[in-house]
Amino acid sequence: MISTDIHLLLTGDELMSGDTVDTNSSMIAQALAEWGHSVAEKMTLGDDRARLVSALRRATGSARILIMNGGLGPTQDDLTAELVAAAAGVALVINADAEKHVRDWCAARSIEPNDANLKQAWLPKGAEIVRNPRGSAVGFAIEVDGTLIITTPGVPGELQAMLPEVSDRIVSIVGGGGVHRVRVQTFGIGESTAQALIDADAEPWPPEVVLGFRAGMPQLEIKLTAASASPDVDRCRQILERLIGDHILGEADTTLASALQQVLRDQGKKMVTAESCTGGLIAAMMTAEPGSSTVFEAGFVTYANSIKHSVLGVDQMTLESEGAVSEPVVRQMLSGALARSGADIGIAVSGIAGPDGGTTAKPVGTVWLAWGTQDTMHTLRTVLPTDRAMFQQLVAAAGLDLIRRQLLGLATIPHYFSRRAI
Ligand code: ATP
Repeated sequence: MISTDIHLLLTGDELMSGDTVDTNSSMIAQALAEWGHSVAEKMTLGDDRARLVSALRRATGSARILIMNGGLGPTQDDLTAELVAAAAGVALVINADAEKHVRDWCAARSIEPNDANLKQAWLPKGAEIVRNPRGSAVGFAIEVDGTLIITTPGVPGELQAMLPEVSDRIVSIVGGGGVHRVRVQTFGIGESTAQALIDADAEPWPPEVVLGFRAGMPQLEIKLTAASASPDVDRCRQILERLIGDHILGEADTTLASALQQVLRDQGKKMVTAESCTGGLIAAMMTAEPGSSTVFEAGFVTYANSIKHSVLGVDQMTLESEGAVSEPVVRQMLSGALARSGADIGIAVSGIAGPDGGTTAKPVGTVWLAWGTQDTMHTLRTVLPTDRAMFQQLVAAAGLDLIRRQLLGLATIPHYFSRRAI
């Protein structure tokens, strides 16, 4: 008996050995959730012919849809096409669409397709390809005993690019699209604080709207989901705006950097960074977002004191008397960066990322930040006693947020710092 279930089969020895963390299943489940579907069963197997055959036997004729992930490549251990063909009782044949894809992919890279490339065009007879905009191996879809098998590549970026087509195929079979979901991206607030503010609010939260949190680093995603296109979701979005508006960066995949870019663009301004302890991470976060060249003027990574002096003009006497991690030094770093780049606004950071280098007066985790313009410059000292990587991420993320806040005229010192600034 065929159910309406969607099953997921993840393949690859690297998943079993722990060399690769399975992020693809959450990516697939999240894409399905956008359409109101969920994964009923999920199985992970190595590149083991017998086990894969038995998993295919179990799913076909029982699940309505089986999404297979991995094993589409050209190597010996890539068994997906061969085993699905066997399950369907058909031969592997050259698929004209897949062959064209492989040949076009090679031509775009000025390479002659070899046997390994062309192996990826051998698909089960009767399969339709699922386009892969990012890689040479297409996915494919084929019906076996009432189960639609959809295969997808293991490389996460390729999978992501194919998910819209995968979703379309699924929705065309099992329906969907009834769910209304808004993903709100926030920074500087934890889920317990957000939940407490919502609970204490005078306006009751509509029970139809499910509230979900996904804590990432450095952002917190708040998901509002209702069973159908409902005005209550928009009402909840407004409640969030009222309660935690200054923490809201935007919706969907908005990041701190993309939100800041947008504000800079709206105001026709450019920014600069002068970094010591973050080693260029703030600049990297900004330039990771497309379109950064219109708003990002320069990033100075001035690690050594001599470079802080020669590149940014920080006074040598101040460096000696106050130390590199001090208010006057970050002020002068920012001032120098603004003057040399001509940018409108900027951020300078200097701190002790650790694990060594701390003192009683300046323990590991101490950081001084200066941000703003030549006329309106703010500074703050805080201590973030955590590991080096986390310290750098927190400082960089806060640096972007502080500029965003200043440009938007929000509270100068956000509560995540006012509670701990010392
Ligand atoms: P390729 O064309 O590269 O061979 P493929 O479809 O055969 O692609 P695999 O060989 O199984 O896929 O995996 C390719 C890459 O994707 C590997 O680096 C693997 O670690 C990664 N990968 C595979 N499965 C997952 C998963 N579930 N989550 C995250 N990464 C994965």
